[in-house]
Amino acid sequence: MKCPTCEKTIEFDWLETECIEPNEEFNCSHCAEVLRYEIDEGTYLGAQHFTVEVVDE
Ligand SMILES: [Zn+2]
Repeated sequence: MKCPTCEKTIEFDWLETECIEPNEEFNCSHCAEVLRYEIDEGTYLGAQHFTVEVVDE
């Protein structure tokens, strides 16, 4: 998935390493924007789909 602000890739492995849970706020490792991600399970072909969004203050 990509950061909506800087468009750089955020690796899911990095989120796991940092122990960042879905819906928990975190800072983009590239631009420090405050972000949040969600996992959509049960999308077609059983693939997991991640969405990331900017957290509005
Ligand atoms: Zn960013």
